[in-house]
Order: sequence, then C-alpha cells, then structure tokens
Amino acid sequence: MIKAIRGTRDLLPPETVLWNFVEAAARDVFRQYNFQEIRTPIFEATELFARGVGEDTDIVSKEMYTFEDRTRADSDKGQSLTLRPENTAGVVRAYIEHNLGERGLNKLFYIGPQFRRERPQKGRYRQFYQIGAEVIGPPTAGSESPARDAEILEMLAVLLDRLGVANWTLLLNSVGCFDDRQRYNQALRKALEPVIGQMCEDCQRRAATNPLRVFDCKVPEDQPIIDKLPRISQYLDEPCREHFAEVQAILMAVGVPFVLNDRLVRGLDYYTRTAFEFTHGALGAQNAILGGGRYDGLSEALGGPKAPGIGFAIGEDRLVLSLQESADAVVKKPDAYVAPLGAGMNRPAAGLARELRQHDLIIELGDESFRLKKSLETATKVGARFAIIVGENEIASGVFPLKDQTSGEQVKVQRADLAARIQAAR
Ligand code: AMP
Repeated sequence: MIKAIRGTRDLLPPETVLWNFVEAAARDVFRQYNFQEIRTPIFEATELFARGVGEDTDIVSKEMYTFEDRTRADSDKGQSLTLRPENTAGVVRAYIEHNLGERGLNKLFYIGPQFRRERPQKGRYRQFYQIGAEVIGPPTAGSESPARDAEILEMLAVLLDRLGVANWTLLLNSVGCFDDRQRYNQALRKALEPVIGQMCEDCQRRAATNPLRVFDCKVPEDQPIIDKLPRISQYLDEPCREHFAEVQAILMAVGVPFVLNDRLVRGLDYYTRTAFEFTHGALGAQNAILGGGRYDGLSEALGGPKAPGIGFAIGEDRLVLSLQESADAVVKKPDAYVAPLGAGMNRPAAGLARELRQHDLIIELGDESFRLKKSLETATKVGARFAIIVGENEIASGVFPLKDQTSGEQVKVQRADLAARIQAAR
C-alpha cells in the first residue's frame, strides 16, 4: 500500500471545515486592516533562503528540501531549488522583483504550505501550513513606524479572539538594530567564554557561529546558565529604546496585553527591533502558535532597496489543533436530506434540491434506488436536520412530508413553504 510520506498528512473532513473557518476568519480580519493577498511559488532558488533565512539557522543548515533541477541546456549542472521553508523570503523577493516599493506601503498576506525536514511529532510536520502577513515599503511610506508593529500585533490579538483561542500570551521583545547587536554579541561572547564548556553541543556550535541563538536552547541543564547571560534589552540605543517604548504604549492604548520576554531573539543581522511570539497553554511542547518580527535589513540583504518591514507567520496546523475542542460548533450539517422515492424520482428530487439550495440551505440528495428505510437511515447518518420525501404523489400534489429528524415529528408542507420552514429551525 502506498502511504502519505512521514511528516505529511491528509486533512480530511470534518477537520477541513475548521481549516476553512480559520482561513475565512483570517481573510476577514486582514481585509479590515487593509491587507491584500500575495501568492508566491512553492519552490524558489535555494540561494534565496540561504540569504533570506540565514545559513546558520537550523532551517537552512538541516531542514530544507533541496534538490537539483534537471540539467540545463546551457550548463552541465541543474539549478539548486528548494521547497519554501517559510514565506517571508519569497514575499521580499517578489517585492524587489516587481518594484512593489513604488506603490508605497505594501500590506500583504499569504496562506499556504511550507516544508521543513523536522522530526515529526504532534504539532510538528514536514509539510505544514502558515498564515502570514508582511508590511513592507520604503521608509518614506512609514514602514519603520512603531505604529505598524502595534497594528500588526493588535490585528493578531483580534484574530485569535475572533477564533475563540482562549489564553493566548503575547511575548514581546526588541532585538535592537545592527549596532546594538554588535555590542551585545561581544558582551555575550565574553559571558559565554567561561561557561560554554558546561553547555550542550548545539550551544557550543551556536556560541561560535551566532551566539544569539543560544537563547533557542531547550536543554534543561543549560537554562540556569542562560538565565545569567546579559540581555539585549540592556544594549538598545536611544532610537531603538524609543521605538520599542512606543510599540508598547500603543498596545496599552488599544488594550492588547503583552509580556516582555528578553530571551526572545531572532538571530540574523537583518532582523531588527520588535520580535514577538504568541503562545497557547494547551499545546504542550509545541506551544508557539505564531512568531514574527521586524526585518528592516532583509530587502537589502537580498540585493533590493532599503525596505523596512515587519511580519508574522501563524502555524495553521497548531492553531487548528488548539481549536479542535470547539470543532463541533463550526461543522455545519445538512439542513435537509431530499429522498427520491421510486423510479423516475431522481429528476424531480434534483429540481427540488436545487430550489432549496437557492435559499442558502445545505441539502444532501439521495437516490431513487433507496427504499424509504434506507433513505431515512442515510439522512440520520449525514446528520440532516430534516428529511423530505419526494414520490409521485408529492410531485403531483405539491405537498411534501417534512420529517424532523430530531423529534421524529412529520408534517405536510407546501412546496413554496419548505425553505422557510427549514430555515426557521436553524
Ligand atoms: P517560524 O517560521 O519558524 O517563525 O514559525 C512560525 C510558526 O509556524 C510557528 O510558531 C509554528 O506555529 C509554525 N511551525 C513552524 N514549524 C512548524 C512545523 N514543522 N510544523 C507545524 N508548524 C510549524
């Protein structure tokens, strides 16, 4: 038997109803904040991610699905391609390629699959889905403003509340600018020197390549050491400090609660200032539902113009997991099951079903080969609220038996009144 690849999965009904519910809510909220959709390709040049995500991140060094394309006519080597592990790099590439900066501030969102070769577990997959957004533009369009950071965070709070995600926590930090981090990295290296021998192998590697990443460490024995390291918050220069203070002030003004966490870092040079994560208590080890931050230097790192930006990516798989308990509420069952009874009845039954669907009702349609008992059993199985029997007599008289599947009660209803009767029970 051929099975789905490890770390990938089929999303089946009724769970897909939840996925659609989440995506529809996201689209709704994004529209209110004037975001528009962008769709970038699922594979890109490997170099885009090496530069856009960073060579020494786990994603690029260990987790990418990279392959060589077939040999090109003009060279003896194919191009190196990679299935996107995230979508920000693709969006910024598109921004540069299409000169989107000419439009001023771009507020873009995306919804789609991403690929990382991680060890699969609950809430962690090799093909997973992200809902994300980016605000990017030339500095003259206000792309650096703390108002943009606060707006994005408020939008996320609204979306999570709208979805009924209870108990989220917004963790907030500022990682400063390039100069701040130079000074901070120096201090961090110095503080790590005497203790690094006691830390895990990953941390030893991180200390050499990118010491900020030490804060990603989850090894319990390393935590007391990490707790004593200097924090980026002590190294912010005045403009960065002010920027961060203003983000917090706006959040307080609009009533979005947050928790400062100066362990939260993004370790690459082009990540700047605001960094954040939303977590959810019920998710266990994989408790981050979404992450994001500012990347004022990313466009330039990719060879583009100066284009400050801020964005986030929601892990849709995890978001859906956190909603699963309330799943029943959003799965809509058919309003009615139309049961054709006897030869030749499929045609008039199809006509009636179509009529009812035009009244925005969800209709399941049976088959004339089913006996009445089987029809009613099927109506129960699909969870229909009512069953409507369509036989020769009913078509002739224009009066249909409408059976309430919950109470078992059956009444005769004129064809023209059927839709209203069914709607009244919603
Ligand atoms: P990142 O792009 O690493 O900042 O991740 C953003 C969000 O995507 C995380 O907070 C997770 O919710 C989600 N995510 C990342 N990797 C995975 C994965 N392998 N499986 C499921 N969700 C993921």
